Amino acid sequence: MKIFHKGTELSENCKALNEGRQSIGFVPTMGSLHKGHLSLIQLAKEQCDLVICSIFINPTQFNKEEDFQHYPKNVERDAEMLQKIGCDILYMPSVDDIYPNGLEKKSYDLGQLGEVLEGSFRPGHFDGVIEVVYRLFAIVNPDKAFFGMKDFQQLAVIRWMVSYFDMPIEIIGGPIVRDLDGLALSSRNERLSPEERKSALKLSKALFYIKKNYPKKGFNVLRKECIEEIEKDPNLDIEYIEMASALDLRPIKEYSESDTVGVFLAAYCGAVRLIDNIVLF
Ligand code: AMP
Repeated sequence: MKIFHKGTELSENCKALNEGRQSIGFVPTMGSLHKGHLSLIQLAKEQCDLVICSIFINPTQFNKEEDFQHYPKNVERDAEMLQKIGCDILYMPSVDDIYPNGLEKKSYDLGQLGEVLEGSFRPGHFDGVIEVVYRLFAIVNPDKAFFGMKDFQQLAVIRWMVSYFDMPIEIIGGPIVRDLDGLALSSRNERLSPEERKSALKLSKALFYIKKNYPKKGFNVLRKECIEEIEKDPNLDIEYIEMASALDLRPIKEYSESDTVGVFLAAYCGAVRLIDNIVLF
């Protein structure tokens, strides 16, 4: 596996490869890799000739300095995992390499997509995500880019972005990878104490409970039950648990046959903010 730290060097390499007509698959990450990230690398390997993974903790997408400062870092272990799974190129830029003129970000009108769920609780977050992914795409110039459904709204935002800028890049969504007990894998899970880890499990349990009981009880009753249960745990503080269209994240109050629907939640577990979702139908 080749490792690049400079975008200019990687771009040159990608250009040469593109002339050889190799298809490039790209998996952007913030590192501290786990099986969720690796599943995207695997998907990219199946669909593309050459796989590039980036590791960059993007300062412009964090709303809280504290979250940015404490974001886990495991660069050596990450590189080993990527090497082992057969990733071809690892790109690990510095902040200056991505933002040579300082931490700029533009503001985008995503319409309702930018206002609901994460958009309403993390103002400016998706502007930062678009900024960094736009810059990474310009460097890597991939044919396909792979994003996890764990960050479901982010995937929708990236699809919006490639359509808005008319980028010839296919966006592929990969399914959520969970621990054996159901907790969605996340780099942030590393920050949970053993006791918090037990509490965090109640979040995925709530989603599975809703999926199982939705036909009998309906969403509003289940939502209330889940919030009551979660709020009993002093480690947990729920921000939202909402039903929305799995296509455009439009809020859904009553299910109709034509909707593809998911349930989306965000909660603090101690100081760690976690998100998860499940597609109902
Ligand atoms: P991150 O490093 O958290 O920015 O995530 C990088 C990519 O991995 C994003 O596209 C995430 O949606 C995806 N990802 C993170 N956790 C999971 C998971 N548990 N299952 C599948 N994809 C994931």
